[in-house]
Amino acid sequence: MDHLAAKYGLSSDAPDLVTTVPALGKLKKIRPSYIKRAESAQVTGRRFAREEILPRVLEIDKECTRDPRYFDWDLWRKANDEKLTVALIPREMGGLGYTALGATVLCEEMTSACMGITANILFNNFGLLGALVEFRTGIVLRIIRDMVKAQRRGEPLFWAWAITEPSAGTDVEDERAMATMRPSTHAEKVSGGYRINGTKCFITNGSLAHYVIATIPLDRSNPLESIATFLIPTSSEGFSVGKVERKCGQKASQTAELIFEDVYVPEENLWEPPGRGLRHTREILSTTRGFIGASALGVARGALERCIEYASKKKIGNHFLIDEDWVRYAIADMIKDIKTVRAACYNFAISVDTYHVMGLFESLPVKTALKMIPERILLSEFVQTIGGLSLVESLAGKIKNRMVSDATVERFVKEGSAVKVAGTDLAMNVSSRVLDIVGLEGMSHRYGMEKCFRDAKVTQIYEGSNQACRLDLFHQEIGSPQ
Ligand SMILES: Cc1cc2nc3c(=O)[nH]c(=O)nc-3n(C[C@H](O)[C@H](O)[C@H](O)COP(=O)(O)OP(=O)(O)OC[C@H]3O[C@@H](n4cnc5c(N)ncnc54)[C@H](O)[C@@H]3O)c2cc1C
Repeated sequence: MDHLAAKYGLSSDAPDLVTTVPALGKLKKIRPSYIKRAESAQVTGRRFAREEILPRVLEIDKECTRDPRYFDWDLWRKANDEKLTVALIPREMGGLGYTALGATVLCEEMTSACMGITANILFNNFGLLGALVEFRTGIVLRIIRDMVKAQRRGEPLFWAWAITEPSAGTDVEDERAMATMRPSTHAEKVSGGYRINGTKCFITNGSLAHYVIATIPLDRSNPLESIATFLIPTSSEGFSVGKVERKCGQKASQTAELIFEDVYVPEENLWEPPGRGLRHTREILSTTRGFIGASALGVARGALERCIEYASKKKIGNHFLIDEDWVRYAIADMIKDIKTVRAACYNFAISVDTYHVMGLFESLPVKTALKMIPERILLSEFVQTIGGLSLVESLAGKIKNRMVSDATVERFVKEGSAVKVAGTDLAMNVSSRVLDIVGLEGMSHRYGMEKCFRDAKVTQIYEGSNQACRLDLFHQEIGSPQ
C-alpha cells in the first residue's frame, strides 16, 4: 500500500491547475498566460516545500520551542535566492510577478509543509500590500526598489503590520468595536512630524522588521476619528522590541511586542491621515483574509498528507490502517472539504486579480509601462522622482480609487472573511480528525501531525478572529441592526 502515499500532495508532482479545478480550463483558453503563471507558482512552491522546508521543519519547530527568537537564516536565504521574498513584485521589476491566484497556489504548497516558515518568507509581501493601499506612486516605486535591491544583495528587508495593542485586538479592525476602544498607543503632532508612544503586541515579524506599518490614534479618547497610519523605520530612536511570544503553534514565525518611546517620524511617514487608519486596515484585511484562508487550506492538506502516509505504512494485523473502510470514508470526506475550500480560495483570488488592487498590475497603463520601460529605468531614482510628482500621484490615486472604492474594500472584507473562516476551520477540523485516525502515535512530534494541529489553531485567531470575521460576514450580507 506504500504507493498510495505517493499519490497525494507534496509526495507527488504538481498536477496542472485545470486538473485540480476543472473550471479553470475556460479561463486558460481565454488567458493562457494567467493560468500558466499560477501553475509555475505551484511547481516552484511544491519543489521548495518538498526539498527545502520538509526536511527541516520539525527541527526548526524544536529549536523555536527552545528559543522563540531562533530563525533559520539558511532556509530564508534559499527562499530569497528563488525570489520568493519578492513573489508579488512584477517580473519586469525584478520579482516573480505572481498574481493573487499565483500567490494563493504558492501559499497552499508552502504551508502544507509549514505555516510558520511560510510566514517568514511570504508575509514580507505585506510591505508591498501596505504601499499598494496607499498607492502614492513615489512610495510604491521606492518600496519595490528597496525590496528588489535587498533581495539581490541577499539581505533581509522585513516588514511588519502592527494594529493589535495589549488592550485592543478585534477593536482595531472594526468600526463598531473601535468606538469603545481604549488604545495604548498615541501619536502627537510636533513640528515637522509626529511623536509616537505606546505598545503594540503579537506582531508577526515584529522582531525582525526594518519597517513597521502601524495604525495609531492622535486622540486616545476618540480613536475612530483620529486613528492614522504611519510608516515607522525600526532604526528610529526610541523604538525597541519587547518579548517574543512563546506560542502553541507557528513557532518558526516570530510574534513580538513593539515598544515606542518618544519615537519621532517625519510628516512624510504619515501614510493615512487621522480618521483614515481604519480604512487602511480594512483594505489590507480585504486581501489578506483570503490569503490566510488559502494558507490554512495548505495546513489542512499537509495534515491529511501526513496521515495518508502514516496510514499507508501502519500495519494492523495482516493489513494496513488505510485498508479500513472507516479510514477511507474519513479521508474521502476530508479530500471533499479540501477541494471545496480550494475552489473558494481560487474564486477569491481570481476576483482580487480582476476587481481589486492586484488588478492594477493587469491594467493597460501599468502593463504597457512595464512592457516598454527597461527594468533598470523602472528601478531608477529618476522614475521614483517622477512617480513622486504630485501630478503623477494624484492621477495614479484617481485610477486606484476608482478601482478600489470603499464599497470594493467592504465587499472583499466580506468575501475574504468567508474564505478565512472556511479555510481556518477546515485546517482545525482536518488536523483534529487525522489525530483521531492515527491515535496515540499522532501525539508524537516526529510525525508532524500534532504540529499541524497547533499551527491550525493559530490561524483561527489572527487576521480577525473567526468570530470577528463571522460578524463581518453577517453585517455585510444580512445587515446591521439600526
Ligand atoms: C500568531 C499571531 C500573529 C499575529 N500577527 C499580528 C500582526 O502581524 N499584526 C497585528 O496587528 N496583530 C497580529 N496578531 C494579533 C491578532 O490579529 C489578534 O490576536 C486578533 O485580532 C484578536 O485580537 P485579541 O487577541 O486581542 O482578541 P480580543 O479582541 O480581545 O477578542 C477576544 C475574543 O472576543 C471576541 N470578540 C472581541 N470583540 C468582539 C466583538 N466586538 N464582537 C464579537 N466578538 C468579539 C473575539 O472574537 C475573541 O474570540 C497576531 C496574533 C497571533 C496569535
